Amino acid sequence: MTVRGSELQSAQQVTFVGSTGSRDNVVVKLSARAAQPTAITVTVPRGAKSGAVRISGTIGSAVTAPQPVKIVAGLPATDDASGSKKLIAGGKREARFSYHVSGSVAAGARVEAVSGVTGKVVRTWPLVKSGEGSVNWDGFVGNQPAKSGAYVLRLNELASNSAKTKVGSDSQFELAEGFFPIRGAHKLSSTAMQMFGGGRGHQGSDHFAACGTPLAAWTSGVVQFNANQGAAGNYIVVQRANGESYAYMHMRERSPAKVGTKVFAGQRLGRVSDSGRASGCHLHIELWTAPGWYKGGKPYDSLPLMKRLDKLN
Ligand SMILES: [Zn+2]
Repeated sequence: MTVRGSELQSAQQVTFVGSTGSRDNVVVKLSARAAQPTAITVTVPRGAKSGAVRISGTIGSAVTAPQPVKIVAGLPATDDASGSKKLIAGGKREARFSYHVSGSVAAGARVEAVSGVTGKVVRTWPLVKSGEGSVNWDGFVGNQPAKSGAYVLRLNELASNSAKTKVGSDSQFELAEGFFPIRGAHKLSSTAMQMFGGGRGHQGSDHFAACGTPLAAWTSGVVQFNANQGAAGNYIVVQRANGESYAYMHMRERSPAKVGTKVFAGQRLGRVSDSGRASGCHLHIELWTAPGWYKGGKPYDSLPLMKRLDKLN
């Protein structure tokens, strides 16, 4: 948050007043760098409530009175998927391929997604009958993300007689299986206790990171559970289109993602912490077979997936 005015360099603190009374006040002491002559910039502290903002200290007379702030609970709607150069299966960014049909479309004319690794066609789409057509691909084949690697979207031979690829199409791209869930420096499971099956029937794998490091959905799905429980702490469970599910535990706060809503690969779900029964801030991630987490599925080792994702991004 930035407050502008003049002669602000001697300001000492900013108080987020919240509602009437001082019980919910949150004070931020200003460092020399935060208070400049014409602007004060502070990070809105955790726990601050919506309401007036007060600046204390020796300040100039021409200060613009700071406006009350509205503080919205939860994480910023950061979207790791859109900033990525790669296409992430189930991510928000989809590969878009456009073309123009000028003649009559032959039977069997298609747009095809071809793996650059195997040369195989993994998906096809019929052409529009005339004019402009386009295909958006989220990287899925049926309920599963296509294998990681290079892909080409193109018109097949029958289609290329009557249609032309439009400039700017995503004709070549790299497809990744998903996001590594910890969006910052991290250390993969390294001891038996941190791995699947280690100590007291451990159902997930533990990956350590600085407390507060953001967590992203590794792939898309629908939020199945979002709760707090003694051992798991703040946790979230997402069910994938294929019926499998994954769970993140020990998060700092409850996830802002609501039960029943869709999440895309790379969507922020929470932050690494040590809520519940945890020693040290880490992500405990569980993978469950269909029909999912405590819905009849069985847990299986999440470490191989974590290792693959770690190499990708
Ligand atoms: Zn664990």
